[in-house]
Amino acid sequence: MRIQTIRGFRDILSEEAGKWRYVEDTAREVLDWFGFKEVRLPILEKTSLFARSIGENTDIVEKEMYTFTDKSGDSLTLRPEATASMVRMFIQHSLYGQPKAAKLFTIGPMFRRERPQKGRYRQFWQVDAEMFGFTHPLADAEIINVVDTILKKLVVPDYEIHLNSLGCQNCRKAFKKALQLYLEDKYNELCPDCQRRYKSNPLRVFDCKIATCKEALKDAPLITDYLCSECQTHFDTLQSYLSHLGIAFTLNPYLVRGLDYYTKTTFEVIIPGIGAQNAVAGGGRYDNLIKELGGKSTPAIGFAIGMERLIPCVPDSIPQKRPIFLALLGAEAVKLGLIWAKALREGGIWTEIDYRLGSLKSQLNRANRLQAAFTLIIGEDEIKNGKAILRNMDTKEQINIPVAPEQGLNIVLKILGREKVGRD
Ligand code: AMP
Repeated sequence: MRIQTIRGFRDILSEEAGKWRYVEDTAREVLDWFGFKEVRLPILEKTSLFARSIGENTDIVEKEMYTFTDKSGDSLTLRPEATASMVRMFIQHSLYGQPKAAKLFTIGPMFRRERPQKGRYRQFWQVDAEMFGFTHPLADAEIINVVDTILKKLVVPDYEIHLNSLGCQNCRKAFKKALQLYLEDKYNELCPDCQRRYKSNPLRVFDCKIATCKEALKDAPLITDYLCSECQTHFDTLQSYLSHLGIAFTLNPYLVRGLDYYTKTTFEVIIPGIGAQNAVAGGGRYDNLIKELGGKSTPAIGFAIGMERLIPCVPDSIPQKRPIFLALLGAEAVKLGLIWAKALREGGIWTEIDYRLGSLKSQLNRANRLQAAFTLIIGEDEIKNGKAILRNMDTKEQINIPVAPEQGLNIVLKILGREKVGRD
């Protein structure tokens, strides 16, 4: 039997990968503008890192992690998200107060054993960014501004930023109590999962997609009615900054997110109309997590963008690069062609050679299939005359240029829009 990918895992073939690279490059560029520095983290971590950060009673930890026992007896897990690893790294390397570690990002695959469907995979990629050490809502505004700028630069249409505050431990305590009291009355209307959650993690009931649970929550107390004055001021200030920046948002008091560590600001970017899995990014503040994981008390806020959901929403108008093709006929032409290719590539030009070295017709065919912008034709006659032919593949116009790269290269580079040899 042929071996295929595992359920929920997929290959990204070269045509799609070009768009991935463009989207990643754009995200990196925007993150650079905001001063975020890239880090690269392991994919495998100790299981306890996720159990302690994401929360024992969350769906991710309860049923979605790829966990196994290593030969050494350690329980290890393929990371289901990046924030926990970022925090582990921050504590492990004692990055407190270091300006270059205050804003960090990473791009890479995450693993969750969810039921696969459109926009939901078991291996998926995230652009994950975190800010460490800032309590002021200005940091919250900056984080949302980064996401908004990335989406605008990628010309993603019709996205909505949903915003909520989950308050601090104090206001959440009062809210949890009120919610539990409310849910007690509705117990029989809840699904078995929510009946369980109502005791251990009542906020999670807001995440349930089942219609009867949604109906049961219709008159539930809302966290935003329980914010203490500090959390309320933080939330109001953030909203005023976003309005000032012209970033549209929708207040959504039901937005609780699936992870336990959030405090105060939480947000999600939704694109209605892309299917059931319409959240392309999510994030929030987690002021207690670093301390809870054994570090010095440090406030933090971050976001993750899901690449599989974002990429289909990015219009396909990415400028396509086109190669120059070398059509080489005869042994001498091949040798000269190798020198041309070397010089062009060193000049930053995508250069293709037909390694089959067939007839001129078949080489031009190949040039067309590769959508070459130009073909440089060199055969025995061209070498004898000292003149190669440069063919514009769109207009079919042909001109002669010196066959020797020393004389011809700069002419070709100029025609291709490169003034001189050298990298950008
Ligand atoms: P979270 O880490 O759950 O806050 O998710 C952040 C973003 O990652 C979501 O908004 C999605 O875009 C993406 N994401 C989460 N889970 C999956 C998945 N199973 N498949 C694809 N994308 C996902």
